[in-house]
Amino acid sequence: MKNLSIAVIGSGPAGYTAGIYLGRALLKPTLFSGLNAGGQLMFTRDVENFPGFPDGMRGPEFMLSLQKQAAKFDTEVLHEQITAVDFKQKPFRLWTSLPNNMELADMQNLSHFDLLQVIESIKKNQPADYNAQAILISTGAEHLTIGVPGEKEYLGKGVGFCAVCDAAFYHDKKIVVIGGGDTALGDALALTKFTDQVYIMHRRERFRASKILQKRVLENNKIQIYWNTEVKEILGNDLQVTALKILRNGKEEEFATNGVFVAIGYRPNTVLFTNQVKMNEQSYIVTRQFGSEQALVELGKNQDTNTENYFPTMTSVPGVFAVGDVTDSRYRQAVVAAGSGAMAAIDIERWLEMMNNH
Ligand code: NAP
Repeated sequence: MKNLSIAVIGSGPAGYTAGIYLGRALLKPTLFSGLNAGGQLMFTRDVENFPGFPDGMRGPEFMLSLQKQAAKFDTEVLHEQITAVDFKQKPFRLWTSLPNNMELADMQNLSHFDLLQVIESIKKNQPADYNAQAILISTGAEHLTIGVPGEKEYLGKGVGFCAVCDAAFYHDKKIVVIGGGDTALGDALALTKFTDQVYIMHRRERFRASKILQKRVLENNKIQIYWNTEVKEILGNDLQVTALKILRNGKEEEFATNGVFVAIGYRPNTVLFTNQVKMNEQSYIVTRQFGSEQALVELGKNQDTNTENYFPTMTSVPGVFAVGDVTDSRYRQAVVAAGSGAMAAIDIERWLEMMNNH
């Protein structure tokens, strides 16, 4: 078993920024980049809204430069996937092993229930690979997908998951948003700043989004709504999306478009932390963030600036911190995640100091 000072789990903007700050504080953090190193921005064509890059940056290049910057300050970046954790005892324990005859890719195809069984069996049957004094969870979130042919193939070539990020590429183009929740309606409204041909395709005849967004969408003449419509396939040529195969009111049709945003919700990457830290109903990790009444209720603690609770990025377990999209169902922006990574690093440094002085 290898002893670590701080283990950062996850390699999006939050994790790497924390790595930069922790490394510069000479705390020698270790960052586990995981199977999908770099997170959601690895699938983003251009990042144009991160301050400091007036000409924008390709998503993957941006992530690589964050990794380089973290490594420059002695953050050890391990391209390993954490497969199980135990935060019930200190130091905290981490596993990277798998049951015999199992590969990492197999874990991605398991149901939630089966995955939990595998995690428990790893902990029961295998010795831990690492232990750490402090943990930062920055495993992010992933978009839900509709799982139709063409969705994966045309990712970044007309299929997108973040209208706020990519809307500007669709100036005066016809564009489709799939979904009927707040994300889909918010995306559709955002897109109307760039084009007056926005189509929402929703599988039912009623939205589940908040009333105010519904009202704005229904009153906006740049948005057409296709009720009772399922997208069955995304079609295209070598370069980009050209059309959708849809089932509208039970009838198959082809719908010409160059772009489609899948906006059917997000799932935080938190299965690994089940029964280890408190989470909310949507499985986002709850931290002691100031001003969040929900956090106070969930954690059952009063905010008291003189106690160890005074660490906004700390989870229900002292010494385990969480930031970025794994805690954030509201903003989901790279710059917000990066900022929260800096906050966590500062909290961890102060928490370790406080522990060492006790
Ligand atoms: P959501 O509320 O779960 O809505 C998902 C939508 O996608 C639903 O309309 C659902 O259809 C549809 N859908 C789900 N699976 C589908 C599939 N396989 N094929 C086609 N359609 C599918 O998700 P969300 O809109 O991302 O919102 C998630 C949470 O974040 C919500 O609590 C929301 O309020 C919050 N949020 C807030 C803001 C804001 O404050 N401005 C912005 C965005 C999100 P059905 O209706 O038929 O189930």
